[in-house]
Amino acid sequence: MVTVLYKSTRNSSIRVESAAAIAKGISDEGGLFVPESIPMLTMGELKSLAGKTYAQRAAYVFSKFLTDFTDAELRYCTESAYTTKAFDTDNIAEIVHLFDNTYMLELWHGPTCAFKDMALQILPYFLTTAVKKLHMDKKVVILVATSGDTGKAALEGFKDVEGTEIMVFYPVEGVSDMQKRQMVTQEGNNVTVCAVKGNFDDCQSGVKKIFTNHEVLQSLEHGGMTFSSANSINWGRLVPQIVYYISSYVSLAESGEIAYGDLLNVVVPTGNFGNILAAYYAKMMGVPIGKLICASNINKVLTDFIRTGVYDKNRQFYATASPSMDILISSNLERLLYLLTGEDDMQIREWFTSLSETGKYEVTDAVKKKMISFFYGGFCDDAATKETIREIHEKNGYTCDTHTAVAVKVYKDYQNETGDTTKTIIASTASPFKFSASVLDALGEKPIEGTDEYDMVELLHEVSGMKIPQSLADLKTKPRRFEKSIDKTDMQQFVLQELHLS
Ligand SMILES: *Cc1c(COP(=O)(O)O)cnc(C)c1O
Repeated sequence: MVTVLYKSTRNSSIRVESAAAIAKGISDEGGLFVPESIPMLTMGELKSLAGKTYAQRAAYVFSKFLTDFTDAELRYCTESAYTTKAFDTDNIAEIVHLFDNTYMLELWHGPTCAFKDMALQILPYFLTTAVKKLHMDKKVVILVATSGDTGKAALEGFKDVEGTEIMVFYPVEGVSDMQKRQMVTQEGNNVTVCAVKGNFDDCQSGVKKIFTNHEVLQSLEHGGMTFSSANSINWGRLVPQIVYYISSYVSLAESGEIAYGDLLNVVVPTGNFGNILAAYYAKMMGVPIGKLICASNINKVLTDFIRTGVYDKNRQFYATASPSMDILISSNLERLLYLLTGEDDMQIREWFTSLSETGKYEVTDAVKKKMISFFYGGFCDDAATKETIREIHEKNGYTCDTHTAVAVKVYKDYQNETGDTTKTIIASTASPFKFSASVLDALGEKPIEGTDEYDMVELLHEVSGMKIPQSLADLKTKPRRFEKSIDKTDMQQFVLQELHLS
């Protein structure tokens, strides 16, 4: 077996093993860890994954990337994470036929009802295993910036995990009622949740600054602690997302919907560019994936970038019905550009310095050309999102959440524009119950004045005929524990206080 080491996108001479990349989360100079080579999967290997459980498929894929983990360690991680205790289906991810050549890949059957569980149920096992392997003997402090779903999924993954402490920051006005309730009622003795008066980008920039602040790092060192990240900048978050693209290809072939070797397009509702980047990695490994369709809401910085080669975050920020995609700085794009520039760390440093100083950068024609050969970018506004929810509910008897609806709409636009009839999977990223108010509104159901999110969940259950996820039903009676909201300039002080370091 070949050893795969990890380099930083901003300094190609850095080489660490995967355990160190996962434990650190981000490289010291601010770059993201990427594998120095992308392992390949032959068609024979792909076929050999048929008949295997999700956990077994995952362990196989991880053995290619996390080469410093033993098989026993990987089995422990995958078998602990992908169980029916945490997920409400044996398949872990479900595939549902939507229409024509199009399938929904339902990634929200985990404990927090969003696709983030696919990675965040396993990350704590990766991280604690990595810390043990490295004999770090330090408490790992996980800082999370969330646009709503990552926070809860990380809290559920890390709650009461020995040797860890987790702190989550969310934008005060940027999350749905259900997302907020999920977070402020979080149980566990090692958890903190705090609202920030700002948007998601403020939370993410704040966390990134704390991560790289020397004074803070020194205080932490003195206190016997170290930071890590549960955001998709952490390779340990990204690698589990590659698995479900590979697994769904195998499942579709297994059930005869496609033949091995057929192309499969992938549509992803995108924010931080993590989920769609995972599909790109699956394609680079040799899985016959065709076009990668990147769907944005009206915060369409990625659509513009894919179409023009200019990344420009200097624009109005909109709070939309798909809040987990309300993002103007898509962190994982850095990994893609590193690959598309032929691993040119100097160029990446230049672009991302320009992004932090001017909010803008422009890629070369060569990179732009490569980008549009792999990706199609499209967007839609809230009105079109809601129209799409209504349409597929009526025509296809399928109820989807707002994020997934953005993907469906952009896919329809793509089909109209190109006439492409390749078989396609759409990543369905959240349960509609997480966004009941918006989904009901789309379906023309007017909630009665004075009703709370639970009346809406009940109403959505009646309208959709779908089962209410138990984890959401259970929240109703849980006490609120975290009511604090702070200015974005106070995040660092807050962290130090909570850790008793100031
Ligand atoms: C996080 C999230 C997204 C965006 O995923 P990225 O990996 O950040 O691109 C889309 N939909 C939902 C429901 C999410 O929680």
